Amino acid sequence: MIVGQAAVLSAIFAGVVALAMIFSGWENPALRLTLASLAAAYVLAMVLLVRSGLAGIGDLEVLGLTDSLSGVRNRRALHLDFARHAIEGEERALALVDLDGFKLINDYYGHAVGDRVIKAAALRLSELCGDEAHFYRLGGDEFAVAVMGPLAGNVLEGLCRRLLKDLASPFQIDNRSIVLGASIGLSRSTGSDGISSSELLRRSDMAMYASKLGGKMRCTWYSQEFDRKREVMRQVEADLRLALDKDEFRLLYQPLVDAQSGQIVAVEALIRWERGDGVRMGPNIFIPVAEETGLIDPIGLWVLRKGCTDALGWDGIKLSINLSSAQLRNPEFPILLGQILDETGFPPERLELEVTETYLVGDHATISRSLDMIRQFGVGVVLDDFGTGYASIGFLRKYRFEKLKIDRSLVLEAQQDEGSMAMMVSSIAVARAMDMAVTAEGVETEAQADLVRTAGCDQIQGWLYYKAISADEIAQQLAPKPARPARRKAAS
Ligand code: C2E
Ligand code: MG
Ligand code: MG
Repeated sequence: MIVGQAAVLSAIFAGVVALAMIFSGWENPALRLTLASLAAAYVLAMVLLVRSGLAGIGDLEVLGLTDSLSGVRNRRALHLDFARHAIEGEERALALVDLDGFKLINDYYGHAVGDRVIKAAALRLSELCGDEAHFYRLGGDEFAVAVMGPLAGNVLEGLCRRLLKDLASPFQIDNRSIVLGASIGLSRSTGSDGISSSELLRRSDMAMYASKLGGKMRCTWYSQEFDRKREVMRQVEADLRLALDKDEFRLLYQPLVDAQSGQIVAVEALIRWERGDGVRMGPNIFIPVAEETGLIDPIGLWVLRKGCTDALGWDGIKLSINLSSAQLRNPEFPILLGQILDETGFPPERLELEVTETYLVGDHATISRSLDMIRQFGVGVVLDDFGTGYASIGFLRKYRFEKLKIDRSLVLEAQQDEGSMAMMVSSIAVARAMDMAVTAEGVETEAQADLVRTAGCDQIQGWLYYKAISADEIAQQLAPKPARPARRKAAS
């Protein structure tokens, strides 16, 4: 840089002096000599100027191909490498590596720690790749590994398995020990099939997504089936957009019973979609699509309005409505909730909103504020699916819930191993000590019912008692009957 500036200055200086001399007299031989030397100095300065310029361009090019945070090569470099090494008929394989749970690290520890984790992961993974493969950071928590040459696919798969194994040992960031996982998608080209680096990236991305869905910490090769499934999801999205207008949603209600008496004490509204073509689709399939597309807001409001209307006459029992994290993050949600309560005349103290822990990971102040706004109406907040993920006893201390719902998976595990049993019992004890009611979900057998009752649950929900049934059937169940036992086997 300094050489460049000096060259510019001397070039300008030499030019000015030369002009002055031309005007003052060309005839003088001494002056001619001086002029010749100045011209030489001028040429030298220009050469230096061009050289320093070229070096700057080289620096810029390296910068443009390097990821500024981790120092490894970036997405542009990947495409460039594929273009440069395009040898007809040479196999190429590309892996997309996505860190699992990285968002949680950012949310829990902040972005500064998140950045250090990315740097440490990039360093470790690129060292593992060594000379065997090219390593890139694509952005966020996404990396890519490329192998070119004979048996590229086999080499890459072996390498990725080693990467996964290596990630199992924790990263030490200050006094924190952070464990990362990864989901990996792989794709390859023969080198003569015309598949571009962008297409390979797209395919690896699809395969990576399949790895995530398949339970993470795995490698999956791309298959054309993924494209067909993606097409189905697009179709679901298109149909979902019309489903509200076409009145294709139904609400069923699954009763929760008192653990001791077996009497119905609450109902949980569960949405069903009966499409025009007769296909029934479960919420586990279409709710995630609705969440991704923003359709969850109108669908969620429909559920709330319909539930409050149906349950208005079911005196003495509570109505539980599932809320998506996306709904709760909508700042207008408390206002809309208030409007629906007004409109339907549903008593707020009979309404409970079920949230899952995915909503609770994030900024504590914002979450507490939105939960408080809901409570101001007198509506209860329930923590659903407890025991399925990161939520721990710490969450129960941090946020106050009116009720805790123990997930079916924890009930099943508690039956089989003592550690899970201890976790269930201690969670129930903490919840009870904090004045929360506790429901066990997914109870299918008498043995499970006995177990959760002994562990301290005060409500039970599950097919042992009831499946989800229509509003009319709920009304029948609640109608006073002459001395008939409340407990019955599921009818549908
Ligand atoms: P969830 O809130 O945990 O609901 C309980 C799920 O467990 C329901 O599945 C219910 O049918 C099922 N279940 C109940 N008892 C048993 C049992 O004894 N054994 C077994 N194997 N399963 C049992 P469903 O209706 O398919 O709903 C799945 C999930 O979809 C719900 O899980 C909830 O997270 C979501 N969901 C359902 N309706 C809505 C809704 O209106 N809005 C939102 N945002 N999510 C909903
Ligand atoms: Mg629920
Ligand atoms: Mg649940």
